[in-house]
Amino acid sequence: MNAPTAPGPPVVEVELHRVVLALRQPHASAGGIEAERDIVLVRVVLEDGTEGWGECPTLSLPTYSSEHAAGAWLVLRDELVPAVLAGRPASVVGHPMAKAAVADALLDARLRTRGRSLAAHLGVTARRVSTTTVVARVGSVAEVLEVVAGAPGGVKVKIEPGFDLEPLAAVRACWPERWLAADANGSFAADQIDRLTAVDALGLAYLEQPCPGLAGAAVAARALSTPVCVDEAADSLDAVRAAVDLEAMAVLNVKPARLGGVEVAAAAVALAAEAGIDAFVGGMLETGVGRRAALAVAGLAGCTLPTDLGPSARYFSADLTDPVEEGTDASLAIPTGPGIGPAPDPGRLEAATRDRWVGRR
Ligand SMILES: [Mg+2]
Repeated sequence: MNAPTAPGPPVVEVELHRVVLALRQPHASAGGIEAERDIVLVRVVLEDGTEGWGECPTLSLPTYSSEHAAGAWLVLRDELVPAVLAGRPASVVGHPMAKAAVADALLDARLRTRGRSLAAHLGVTARRVSTTTVVARVGSVAEVLEVVAGAPGGVKVKIEPGFDLEPLAAVRACWPERWLAADANGSFAADQIDRLTAVDALGLAYLEQPCPGLAGAAVAARALSTPVCVDEAADSLDAVRAAVDLEAMAVLNVKPARLGGVEVAAAAVALAAEAGIDAFVGGMLETGVGRRAALAVAGLAGCTLPTDLGPSARYFSADLTDPVEEGTDASLAIPTGPGIGPAPDPGRLEAATRDRWVGRR
C-alpha cells in the first residue's frame, strides 16, 4: 500500500442517511434472516466542496456481529461525526463498521481531491477479480442444487448442524470438479466437530468459521484437513494477528467494513500474505458504494482466492449506484475512477432514505 493519504482540506459537513433497500430475496444464514438492507451511508464534505461517501453495512439486528443499523446511527451521530467535525479522535470502543463508514468517506473525499482511484492508492494492478456465488441458507438440498445449477462459477454453501454433509455431498456428486466451499457462520460447537469429519473428504476449498471465535476456529483447524477460514472472528487487525499466532486459519475472509475500513483491510491482507495465509474479500450485502470499495481491496495480490462479492442484481432490483455487473467469466471489474467508487444516484438515494441528519463544523 502507498503512503497514507495526506490530510487535505478540513471536513465542514457530514450527512448521515439511514437507507432501507429491498432485497430481491431474504438472505438467510445460521445467524438469521435479513429481509431488507437497513444501512447507514456517510457523506462528508470538505472545505473545498469535495464530497466523499462511505457505507456502514451493519445488519438490522446484531445477529452477525455486535453492531446493527440503529446502534451505528447513534454512534455515528453522537460520537464519531462530532469528533470528525471537531478534528479530534473519537473515544469509541468497537463499532468497526461505523468507524469504517467515516474512514472510507474521508478517504473517498481525499482521493477525489487528487483524482486518484482507491485501486491506485492501494497499489492494485489487477483489472478484474473472480467471484464465487454464496448459496444462502435454503430449505432443502434440491434448492441448493437449483441455485448451484444457475451459478456461473464456484460456489460457497451455507451450512449448519443438521444441514451440512448432505447438501455438500449432493453438490459434489453433481459437479465433481466444481470449486466448492462451505460457510457455517460459527454454528457448530467445538464438541460437534466430529459431524464435520465426513465433510473433510469432499475436497472443499475451505470451510468458513465452522465454530465460533478464534478458539473455535483453532480447534477446527487442528481437527480437520480442510483449510479452515476465519470470518466473524476477524473483527480487527489485532484479531487477525491473534488468528495467525493461534494457527486458527489457513484462509482469512477480509470484510473491509468489519475491520474498520478499506485501509485497515489492506493491512490485514498484507498480514495474511506475510504469514502465508490465503485471503479473499467477503461481502456484507453492501450497496454499490461499499461493494465497489471492497472490490478494490479484493484486487490486492494477497487476495489469493475468489471474492464472494457478487453483482448488484444478485441482491437488489435497483442498487443505489450504477449496478456492479458480473462478466460471463464470473468476474467483477475493479473500479478505476477517482475515490473509492461512484457516489449514490441522488434520486435512488432520496427514494431509499428513511432518516437523514446533518452535522456542520
Ligand atoms: Mg462467512
